Amino acid sequence: MSERPRIDVLVIGAGPAGLTAAHTLMRRGRRVTVLEMDDQVGGLARTVTYKGFRFDIGGHRFFTRVAALRQMWHDMLGPDLLTRPRLSRIFYNGHYFSYPLRPLNALRGLGIVNAVRVVGSYAWSRVRPIPHEASFEDWVCNRFGRRLFEVFFKTYTEKVWGMPCTEIGAQWAAQRIQSLSLWTAVTDMLFKRFRRKGSAPVKSLIEEFEYPRFGPGMMWEAFQQRLEEGGQDVLLGATLCDLSHDGHRVQEVTYRHRDETVTVPVDAVLSTMPLRALIESLSPPAPEAVRHAAARLQYRAFITVALIIDVADIFADNWIYVHDPSVKLGRIQNFKNWSPEMVPDAGKTCLGLEYFCAEGDALWQMSDDDLIALGRRELEVLGLARADTVSDGAVVRMPHAYPVYSTDYEEAVAVIRDHLSTLVNLQVAGRNGMHKYNNQDHSMATAMMAAENLLGGITDPWRINADDQYHEAGSGDLRHVIADLDALARTQPLVPMPLPTSDATRSC
Ligand SMILES: Cc1cc2nc3c(=O)[nH]c(=O)nc-3n(C[C@H](O)[C@H](O)[C@H](O)COP(=O)(O)OP(=O)(O)OC[C@H]3O[C@@H](n4cnc5c(N)ncnc54)[C@H](O)[C@@H]3O)c2cc1C
Repeated sequence: MSERPRIDVLVIGAGPAGLTAAHTLMRRGRRVTVLEMDDQVGGLARTVTYKGFRFDIGGHRFFTRVAALRQMWHDMLGPDLLTRPRLSRIFYNGHYFSYPLRPLNALRGLGIVNAVRVVGSYAWSRVRPIPHEASFEDWVCNRFGRRLFEVFFKTYTEKVWGMPCTEIGAQWAAQRIQSLSLWTAVTDMLFKRFRRKGSAPVKSLIEEFEYPRFGPGMMWEAFQQRLEEGGQDVLLGATLCDLSHDGHRVQEVTYRHRDETVTVPVDAVLSTMPLRALIESLSPPAPEAVRHAAARLQYRAFITVALIIDVADIFADNWIYVHDPSVKLGRIQNFKNWSPEMVPDAGKTCLGLEYFCAEGDALWQMSDDDLIALGRRELEVLGLARADTVSDGAVVRMPHAYPVYSTDYEEAVAVIRDHLSTLVNLQVAGRNGMHKYNNQDHSMATAMMAAENLLGGITDPWRINADDQYHEAGSGDLRHVIADLDALARTQPLVPMPLPTSDATRSC
């Protein structure tokens, strides 16, 4: 039995949301303990290092319309936050489609006959739209026509989500589709001339973004360092197991840290762990309807196969979308094009091959060696690199990469939200923490709001990204929310850091 001081605020998860929340709470005078089950910070936005080669879990652009968040990133990294050009292409049916699209290149790829069919089916979708848009497929067909849906949307989307487009909620399409790039550009090019005079233009595509010199993990390690310098605890290899509550407040938490299981009283908890796991950790258990709702939440897993290739220049893109059904991979990142310092030797290249899968499925269970061999073969099929130029490789698996927007997920989340609102000292934030398809900036904003709520503020983190109009080049609700937050921070004085009390704790 060891004694540990009562925890003032426990933050579960050291991804962008957890670290931002901890940082906000520290700046407002609270004492924070962050639990991170992994052995490094950053969550999905970490940077992995293998033999001096750095790679992301997917490429992580730093982009936000919110000045306050951009400023925070700059304060953290200064000149190490680089501005990088964006270049990406799409591989489909044996052709590379330039991005942004060049008309002749696109026409060559699609062929005249297909281009005419695309326009015809678009016109038909305007005349006879699907009356009730329930699914991704309905939403896309109504806006782009069935032909374009079949050519460019269906294969890639089904690779990412592993389910038919008829089972993916329309809301996901509304929220994210413009960031998937080709269709915006294709339709912009194809239909621009038919657009009514005075109607809003398709939102501009982002041509540059910010990126830390040594990858996104560098940002989150800087957050970790600030927290530790401020006297806060960031416990790595620490997994939250149990939240004990009395129906009104969380009273104590149990976590495993290395070989020890620790139970300790808490004043407040901010969770960024997956919502389903949070519900499973409640003790006494949540009512059956809530547990049933949590069990309905699904996640899409993600495997990065990083291949080291003994060739200096393979392609100039940051990434290539691979819509082509001839290979299993969905996207390829070229990390030295994100930042030259991601590779230790300029004569080599590190490509990140991205496979979307389900935890436990055949792909997930393949050995690292087999995945590396698969990646080698697929690179050759795509004509990007000869298999014998691949000298080494590493594999990283992430079980909770994408919260799935199935057709019934909103109903399930509503049931869970309702139940969690009964625990007044518990807040949730972040991507899986709220089952929202958030980028880093949204995850950070929800975390700042959840932290404010623990400090006595009344904000609604669920508003972030809640409207259907979020796109990379638009600002949606976020700017207003951050302005609210800034105002709140100005009117609420910093409270002095409370001294931790030394209640006895159980250690089991
Ligand atoms: C392939 C891909 C590409 C992306 N590209 C971009 C991009 O270009 N730009 C962008 O802004 N965003 C991007 N994102 C989104 C971005 O990664 C997320 O918005 C962000 O990482 C979410 O932060 P978070 O803290 O909410 O969650 P996470 O990053 O998932 O962090 C949660 C943390 O909680 C920890 N945890 C979970 N359970 C427990 C437990 N029981 N106990 C202790 N710790 C626990 C996890 O280990 C993890 O470290 C991308 C995501 C993916 C998957």
